[in-house]
Amino acid sequence: MSQASAHRQPAATPIAATEAVALNVDLHCHSLWSDGTLAPATVVERAWERGVQLLALTDHDEIGGLAEAAGRARELGLAFIPGVEISVTWARETIHVVGLRVDPLDEKLSAGLARIRAGRDARARQMSDQLAAVGIPDALEGASRYVRNPGLISRSHFARYLVEAGFGANVQQVFDRYLLRGRPGYVAQHWADLDEAIDLIVSAGGVAVLAHPGRYRLDDKGETSLWALVEAFRDAGGRGIEVISSSHRPADRAKFARWSSEFGLAASLGSDFHDPKESRVDLGTSPRLSASLEPVWRDWPETRALVEAAHLASPGPADLAGQEEG
Ligand code: AMP
Ligand code: MN
Ligand code: MN
Ligand code: MN
Repeated sequence: MSQASAHRQPAATPIAATEAVALNVDLHCHSLWSDGTLAPATVVERAWERGVQLLALTDHDEIGGLAEAAGRARELGLAFIPGVEISVTWARETIHVVGLRVDPLDEKLSAGLARIRAGRDARARQMSDQLAAVGIPDALEGASRYVRNPGLISRSHFARYLVEAGFGANVQQVFDRYLLRGRPGYVAQHWADLDEAIDLIVSAGGVAVLAHPGRYRLDDKGETSLWALVEAFRDAGGRGIEVISSSHRPADRAKFARWSSEFGLAASLGSDFHDPKESRVDLGTSPRLSASLEPVWRDWPETRALVEAAHLASPGPADLAGQEEG
């Protein structure tokens, strides 16, 4: 036996998947640091009020809200995971990669995200010009009034302004009419490469999770299919896939549950909450993951602490038997 292994602690028994999936977990949501509308502390409070036990904040290309969220979570005693959602261009489609348990102080991550954010202003000006050409003036000024982080203007801010200005009944409708690919306000953007985004997450100590795979418009087969994306994601060091997301219908959940097992990617779960009125699924109200899957949070220390605290609060049959003997 080597000296190193002689000093090693015995491995703790893994938490059972059934116990891990029973927790109220939400590993994908947004604050006003990107295109959500609530302050990070308010997001945390809302999650807490709705029973979330394990929460990650995952703003787009931005980690500026994590310190505030972590501080409020600590005050409330809510287990908090620092996260991010990175914009990627793959096969000319925009793909989102969620990073969980990233170190918010990692300098390479901060610099990489700043680079990814940098093109947003020019894109917003071009979106505004294209909207003006179809009879919608001053969209940049309008959208800017909804922006709270000057470094991050998003299509969601344009959408809120377009609804305000009467160009559609709701955010979904103005996206469909003006902001999706092929529509007059759409501007193609080259975000990060897939490898680069995964490397930023992994080198900051995090786990890379493919966000809402049911949303991408890719080919049915071949090199630019969704299947090829998931293979490329896994080969580049991706470890998880969102099975439960507000973007997923029940058929998507079933499909990506299967893919999670087939690809050996851990399953993740998140509401993708942005705003109390806009978001169809609120924090902490998503369905639970099936215990037949490997939840991405199973081996996290926060999960162990939550499960052990639950055991102390309500002793199981084994504990009761032990008490009777003594
Ligand atoms: P951006 O990063 O500026 O391209 O904006 C992307 C954001 O727009 C996403 O994170 C969603 O919040 C929002 N979004 C994208 N597609 C839709 C849609 N069809 N309906 C509503 N919101 C959408
Ligand atoms: Mn968003
Ligand atoms: Mn997304
Ligand atoms: Mn999101």
